[in-house]
Amino acid sequence: MTAPILVITGPSGVGKGTLIKGLLERVPGLELAVSATTRRPREGEVNGVDYHFLGEEDFERRVAAGEFVEHAEYAANRYGTLTSELKRPAGGIVLEIDVQGARQVRDALPEAKLIFIEPPSFEDLERRLAARASDRPEQIERRLAAARDELAAAGEFDHRIVNDDLQRALQELSKLAATMSPL
Ligand code: 5GP
Repeated sequence: MTAPILVITGPSGVGKGTLIKGLLERVPGLELAVSATTRRPREGEVNGVDYHFLGEEDFERRVAAGEFVEHAEYAANRYGTLTSELKRPAGGIVLEIDVQGARQVRDALPEAKLIFIEPPSFEDLERRLAARASDRPEQIERRLAAARDELAAAGEFDHRIVNDDLQRALQELSKLAATMSPL
């Protein structure tokens, strides 16, 4: 028996992390799956907490061993959700993943609830990404290029939330999470 799964997707920089942090504070029993990635830790990120930081070879070995429920390459780094993360004894599990991964989860786990977070505008997203000082300019460019494709995929998802006002968006997200059974 696995817990209900809530997938939060949308372009990098749209505020998925902040929304999820608020959601986890509001909904007891909900837990965040810790993703694996080959990208380097940003300052302050902790291995096993923010991500499982893996080397390329280790990541590839786990792909070959079938350890991921989904995985994708994003802005020249690899990201994936280990199946073991879905087996936590939680009331519900939240996945914060890119659109490629969300599609894979939709196919593999049709019962998962998928939510797409949208920025109020592309310019807003550009501003948010540029403000993330820890990312190098070429990383920001790659993420903006990926964002154009990701925004075009918004219509594929049942639920869409515009993150123009954090409190309102959080309220919408909490309402959707509350409809997950058996939370
Ligand atoms: P960041 O490098 O900013 O932490 O993440 C970059 C992008 O990768 C974000 O859109 C984030 O949601 C996505 N991401 C994080 N973890 C995963 C994962 O496990 N799988 C997939 N497919 N994407 C992920």
